[in-house]
Amino acid sequence: MAPEHELRLPEETMRALGHRVIDAIVDHLTGMAAGPVGGRPTEEVMARLASEPLPRAGAADPGKVLDEVHELLRTGNTHPDHPRFLAFVPGPGTYTGVLAAALAAGFAVPTGWRLTGPVSTAVELTTIRWLAGLLGLPEGTGGLFVSGGSTANLTALTVAREEVLKGEGTHLGTAYCSDQTHFSVERALRVLGIGADRVRRLPADTGQRLAPGPLAARVEEDRRAGLLPFAVIANAGTVGTGAVDPLPELAAFCRAEGLWLHVDGAFGAAAALVEEGRAALAGLPLADSLSVDPHKWLFQPAELGCVLLRSPAGLRRTFGVSMPSYLAGAHASGDPLPDPDEGVDFMHHGIQQTREFRALKLWLSLKVFGADAFGGAVAHGIDTARRLGRFIDSHPGTELVTPPSLAVLTFRCVPVVGEDVPDECVDRACLDLMAEGDALVMPTTVAGRRVFRICTINPRTDFTELCEVVVRLHELWSARAEAAGDATARTPGGPA
Ligand SMILES: *Cc1c(COP(=O)(O)O)cnc(C)c1O
Repeated sequence: MAPEHELRLPEETMRALGHRVIDAIVDHLTGMAAGPVGGRPTEEVMARLASEPLPRAGAADPGKVLDEVHELLRTGNTHPDHPRFLAFVPGPGTYTGVLAAALAAGFAVPTGWRLTGPVSTAVELTTIRWLAGLLGLPEGTGGLFVSGGSTANLTALTVAREEVLKGEGTHLGTAYCSDQTHFSVERALRVLGIGADRVRRLPADTGQRLAPGPLAARVEEDRRAGLLPFAVIANAGTVGTGAVDPLPELAAFCRAEGLWLHVDGAFGAAAALVEEGRAALAGLPLADSLSVDPHKWLFQPAELGCVLLRSPAGLRRTFGVSMPSYLAGAHASGDPLPDPDEGVDFMHHGIQQTREFRALKLWLSLKVFGADAFGGAVAHGIDTARRLGRFIDSHPGTELVTPPSLAVLTFRCVPVVGEDVPDECVDRACLDLMAEGDALVMPTTVAGRRVFRICTINPRTDFTELCEVVVRLHELWSARAEAAGDATARTPGGPA
């Protein structure tokens, strides 16, 4: 046995525990569909977790610790990779991504610097090139992998601020997006010193898109007021309804006005892998920067986001730093800030120095399954939403509110003529469904009314089960609507 201070387990134990971890993961991935979409721990378990004292001495049997955590993970959370997790944007994942994450951690892979990570740097550059190609982006597009869409948005908007405002006038910098834009955009701008009073969340049009006309008017008005418009943030797939902003028009406007066009495609950009999606995302290659989350519709485990720039040199201009003495000497040239043409050191391209070797997840998955299989999986999600849309419109008592767009649709339950069902019945029906445990659907608001929303990107979602979820939601909503009607009828002054 190694001395305790070495923090090592005996080799046999290492292998045995590793096999158990893999078995637990494979059991989860292969058995999940037959079980509930997730669970909630008991009050007792929550209390125990919250008050657990620091373990001073190690475990006599490390296997028991693994058993404990396995049980907690199996039963205590909702599973975003479950085929009936239909809320928000699911995270369907692949086993290859899991293996890559384990390998990246197991080999302590350095990623920031060519000197120590030549292979990881090359793999990341190649994976970026593959991804840009899959999305139909121009030759020369570059970027880096980050934790997720929030960080991708922050990274891109930092470059936008530097490149357009040139380090001056941040206090006057003004940015534009629709009111359907993900909250991470406004938060990123706040971090960058662009407060909410200089973020124009313009009301979306009836198609939930950013309308170029009102945008142009607002930019002009702000310029006249002495502000410095610098960026437009467009959506390639809003979370709410899958809406795509009019990218070609916005790109033309931004070019004419000298504004940066950032496209948030965290969830939806992956649709560009297939012809139909690429048509819906026309104009995507015109973006100055793009966020895409492979941990959503490219089936990788969290965390895997990506920021892509048409002109990636801006990353280095924004994030490059001169090297401290303990690193500078290692550059053969002796130049403290090496010529960017020499090659990429990712630590100069983003906020992080030490980073997980995340690129390996997508690299390994693409190598094992092939890009065509990824296209097939994305197409399946788009097609499933379309089929479900037809089912909803043909099912008595339900109708679409927004048609399927990039694998997202919203629908409502139609009240009996003359009945006015409170919006909260939609929320309650979703919670009732969650309590039953079989599926997860969450509501959203479209044109001021609460509606049901379903996202069908999980390629392992069964279509028949999906229809059953809609039918069950309708039943739960009807029960809530009836109860609400009874309550109103009993209220003095309410309808007789
Ligand atoms: C998920 C998402 C984000 C945030 O990404 P994270 O990976 O959760 O940080 C931003 N924008 C859109 C459109 C998203 O779908």
